[in-house]
Amino acid sequence: MERIISFCIDHNILKEGIYLNRVDKDVFTYDLRFKAPNKGDYLHTASMHTIEHLFATVVRNSDFKDKVVYFGPMGCRTGFYLLLFDAPDVSKVKEMVINCLEKCLELDTIPGSKKIECGNYRSHNLKNAKEELVKYLSILKDGNIEKTN
Ligand SMILES: [Zn+2]
Repeated sequence: MERIISFCIDHNILKEGIYLNRVDKDVFTYDLRFKAPNKGDYLHTASMHTIEHLFATVVRNSDFKDKVVYFGPMGCRTGFYLLLFDAPDVSKVKEMVINCLEKCLELDTIPGSKKIECGNYRSHNLKNAKEELVKYLSILKDGNIEKTN
């Protein structure tokens, strides 16, 4: 089997930040890397789950809402993938992500976290999710932005 593009990225040197990971026709996959890979510091499952609910809600209500294909967590718990239609401008996407992170921090309830709305509604942690969002926001504001392929 062919090795998929995201496995070809050198995870020994990848840092926290936002990266254009791959392009499939008009779908642009962005790597929102919260944690440097394999450094012993990973997102907690409950916090990741909460970030997924917060960010997905905010981005799907943003000016970019018509471009959103998908937002979801990486299995390695070091970040998220954001898939957008027709969004090649990395700096604009970064600006949008920063705006969305700031809006996430304003929320004091977790959207879609009732039993009827979520597959594991007890697995959430708003306080820790916000701590991770604050850290990631400061990483993005420090200007780390690259294209990995
Ligand atoms: Zn859920």
